[in-house]
Amino acid sequence: MRKSIGRELLLLLTFFGSIWAVVSYFSEDEAEDCDVIPEDLYDKLGDFVIDDFSQSSSLILIANDSFSLESWNEILHRLDFDNSNCRAIYLSRNPEVNAYTLPGDNIVVYSGLIEFVESGEELAAVMAHEFGHVKKGHVRELLKERFAMTSLIMIVSGDAGGNLLLELSDFLFTAAFSRDNEKEADYYGLELLERGNLSTRGMLRFFEKLEEEKMEMPEIISAFSSHPLSADRLEYIRTHAAKSVGDSLLNMNWNDFQKEMLDLAAHGDQ
Ligand SMILES: [Zn+2]
Repeated sequence: MRKSIGRELLLLLTFFGSIWAVVSYFSEDEAEDCDVIPEDLYDKLGDFVIDDFSQSSSLILIANDSFSLESWNEILHRLDFDNSNCRAIYLSRNPEVNAYTLPGDNIVVYSGLIEFVESGEELAAVMAHEFGHVKKGHVRELLKERFAMTSLIMIVSGDAGGNLLLELSDFLFTAAFSRDNEKEADYYGLELLERGNLSTRGMLRFFEKLEEEKMEMPEIISAFSSHPLSADRLEYIRTHAAKSVGDSLLNMNWNDFQKEMLDLAAHGDQ
């Protein structure tokens, strides 16, 4: 009898335990949903940041949903820009070797990167990596970790005080993705290149060159620290590149493209 009551009690506890587990699972899930930055707030924040950037440096529009520079069309087409979720790509004059994704999923490419890479395939590889950050929502994740939703609303509504704006600016200049996020963006990028029938050797070449040059010109390369290099990064990209099946080259003249972009960055879009 005791044994049976004990057993029933155990069953009851297991039953309520399961209900509790299910309920708490769903409420955690809902709480997480509430934390997701709403699309329009994220886009407005993107506009705010782009406006802010334009005050201090020229941003030349490369592509958005209704425009693209003709010389970029081949790369954008191979990387399926229209389905990338990226809102816009801008070129900015800056000697640092860098490209990054801002809140609002706007990508900025520095002229220093265009100068550093030696082929369209390498540039496509860097863009594919950025598209990975966009597609996987990495900037949203970083923002969510750093800012309360009310702070973001205050920023876009113009009610933010100086401290909050300083915090945003600090975030934009120092935020770095986690190594896991970097790996995820790399793998997404490698896949995207293959889908566009592009060899992933462009990505390998780019990262090999970063490794080679980081001793020579640390002040320029260090900017890529928003995308930290992990020890195994070259290794998995090398493994992937060795069996790359995408082999058609981009139909573009790299030297002409590079010259056009550097001229554009030097003279603005006047
Ligand atoms: Zn990255």
